[in-house]
Amino acid sequence: MEKLVFFLFSISILIMNGCSSKGKEADLVLLNGNVITVDKNKPHAQAVAVIRDTIAAVGSNKEIKEYIGESTQILDLKGETVIPGIIESHAHFFAVGNSLMELDLSTAKNWDEIIARAAEKAQSLRPGEWIVGRGWHQEKWDPPAMPNVDGYPVETELSKATPRNPVIFFHASGHALFANKYTMNLAGITSATPDPPGGRIVRDSTGKPIGVFEEDAEDLINKVYEKYLAKRSPEEILETYKKQAELASQEAISHGITSFHDAGESFKMIDLIKKFIDEGIIIPRMYVMVYEDNIDTLKKYLPKYKIIGYHNNHLTVRAYKRYIDGALGSRGALMLSPYNDKPGYSGLMVTPLKTLEKEMRIAFKDGFQVCTHAIGDKGNRLVLNLYEKIFGDKAANNNFRWRIEHAQHLSTKDIPRFAKLKVIASMQGIHCTSDAPFVIKRLGYERAKRGAYAWRKLLDAGTVICNGTDAPVEKLNPIPNYYALVTRRLANGKEFFPEEKMTRMEALRAYTINGAYAAFEENIKGSITPGKLADFTILSKDITAVPDSEILSTKILDTIIGGKVVYSAEE
Ligand SMILES: [Zn+2]
Repeated sequence: MEKLVFFLFSISILIMNGCSSKGKEADLVLLNGNVITVDKNKPHAQAVAVIRDTIAAVGSNKEIKEYIGESTQILDLKGETVIPGIIESHAHFFAVGNSLMELDLSTAKNWDEIIARAAEKAQSLRPGEWIVGRGWHQEKWDPPAMPNVDGYPVETELSKATPRNPVIFFHASGHALFANKYTMNLAGITSATPDPPGGRIVRDSTGKPIGVFEEDAEDLINKVYEKYLAKRSPEEILETYKKQAELASQEAISHGITSFHDAGESFKMIDLIKKFIDEGIIIPRMYVMVYEDNIDTLKKYLPKYKIIGYHNNHLTVRAYKRYIDGALGSRGALMLSPYNDKPGYSGLMVTPLKTLEKEMRIAFKDGFQVCTHAIGDKGNRLVLNLYEKIFGDKAANNNFRWRIEHAQHLSTKDIPRFAKLKVIASMQGIHCTSDAPFVIKRLGYERAKRGAYAWRKLLDAGTVICNGTDAPVEKLNPIPNYYALVTRRLANGKEFFPEEKMTRMEALRAYTINGAYAAFEENIKGSITPGKLADFTILSKDITAVPDSEILSTKILDTIIGGKVVYSAEE
């Protein structure tokens, strides 16, 4: 027996020695960097060694040079800043892709520019394919459209530029759309078409429709577009999803995002995500929340869809997405007392509490994390109440890590409950600065001061906050989002309750280790620590140290996932 043990021992020594000289050779080495590790044990370093997809060592250039072998790829960073790969904690993957297939008209200077962009888009499409755009606003144009009706442009020139393709351009307000001649023909719109109830077909002085359809008249055009979408073959639909996945994937990695929390997909879409990961179309690591309303489907499939670390940690599904209310802009956020600019009205509950409880209990039983959209203070309170009820006697020091998505407007009383229940606040820095212009109008000064985007109060109470953009609601770009967290500065230079700012390191944690924690992945992601996945984002500036005014011009230079450079900025 003793002999056998000794024999096995010797064999294992041999094996270990055999590997050690070869095993220590790095596949990738980063040298001469300003490495911000987000690891308390070693906050700063110069260099990192990577073996396969894992961080092998972090240290000085001298220490890490030991790992260089014949086949090691060396990246000389020349002082550039390395941070752990950015974790986008709340965005909508396919919707990001879809938004990139459409024209973004919000930046157009005038109607002529929109016509030019439509004409250019038409070049890349087959006859009959739709040109879809979003975000135009006639009041922003310089010069104004000529000729015009009530400031709206007239379809003639746009129709000439797009003779073979239907055009549908949604207005920035969401309350009107523009159609070209081709689309109006498909919809059978003529001077004789009457205005539908609740809507207006905008016409010139002769009664001829100019292309603008307001409110319920939008349906006349939407119907035709939806019919087109519904008529596509399964192959065409798959092709569209594939295109969206490709675009979203490229958009993410070009912004330094190495992990993406996808805030709600059906089981069918999760199958597709899996397929696209296998095919190498989706590059960032995906953490997908299940979105399913049908309780029977949920019961049946939720346990089967628990996926952890699929394809070398490229897909995890263990979260379930719900909604309790709407958004602040449209006064859909559920508030404890009425809106200041709509007396007597306090917002909407979009899912009954009984239903939410039933669904959450299924998720709880199956060991799923629940992520609930809550914007208003009442919405947040009701969700905290539900979580507390479901946790029951397991609430104290639990490790369920249930999340509230947005957690935007909070009652002072509820702020400490996040930490007490170990509930994660999954917030969006950029929502604060882009909503700020109407927050006080909606809530009044006092209520906004107490609990609007109350990062400081939440952090001081011991809450874990992770950060995201909610793209395509906001752009996926992490730099303005980080800037919003640390400055709360609006485009006009004003600061929105600056006492709620995060420090630079808190904001970096919100985008890295806290995002990892919010996905049960802090052991493999979120800091530059030996043993974790080699996911890094390389920046042109040190966003933890440069003056505020320099943050916004920071560029993403490289994105590294699992030790592979998946994106490099053009020089
Ligand atoms: Zn969202």
